[in-house]
Amino acid sequence: MKITLLTGKTFDISEAVGMNIKVVQAKGARKLTLRIDTKERVPVLSVPKWCSKKHAVSFINEHMDWLIENLSKMPPIKHFTDGMEISLFGQKVQIKHCPNERRGTWLEDNMLYVSGSAEFLHRRVKDYIKKQAESEFFRISLQLAAQIGQKLNSVCIKDTKSRWGSCSSLHNINYSWRIALAPKEVIDYLMAHEVAHLKHQDHSAEFWKCVDELNHDWQKGHKWLKKNGKSLYSYQ
Ligand SMILES: [Zn+2]
Repeated sequence: MKITLLTGKTFDISEAVGMNIKVVQAKGARKLTLRIDTKERVPVLSVPKWCSKKHAVSFINEHMDWLIENLSKMPPIKHFTDGMEISLFGQKVQIKHCPNERRGTWLEDNMLYVSGSAEFLHRRVKDYIKKQAESEFFRISLQLAAQIGQKLNSVCIKDTKSRWGSCSSLHNINYSWRIALAPKEVIDYLMAHEVAHLKHQDHSAEFWKCVDELNHDWQKGHKWLKKNGKSLYSYQ
């Protein structure tokens, strides 16, 4: 992954070009470069130090066709809706809206029932997944940690798009809630990956050996995440 080192504040050109654009000053940059951050769904313009706001605006206008074409290629935002089929912790589940019920959100025979009005359906499903993910991922991670004699204090569910999981030296693990929507082998791989970090805080050969010890099948999930992980960002 390319890392952009920021060297200070930049200007805001969103209003001038009529589109939300993130401008960053990249260290040592000699020219302007434009890309689309598909995770955050926003165009990012990297500018050198000498670049003026006027210059940045005309650069964007020159590349507007490219920008519009590539923004339209992004996978559409997905909202949880009535009748939608999702993969939840590796199980096919169908969402069923029950507007007249007042029972919250509950799972029964592969149906995810959601009470309340339609406008809150997406939010309710998301909240339900986050809550379930916290206990489910904690359960799986705790089991794996025990296998390698490591202590695990807590599992937190995050909404960040920068990473699928992270592990701190204080033996706490964070996971993205979107992983709950991935196939089972992906969940198993990611948990093995983060739990292995309890023992090895790097990506050394020993670390990967530990991942393999926890999950011999890890490569399947690893590949899926690399190839299809982006699709999970469609869920906002
Ligand atoms: Zn890692």
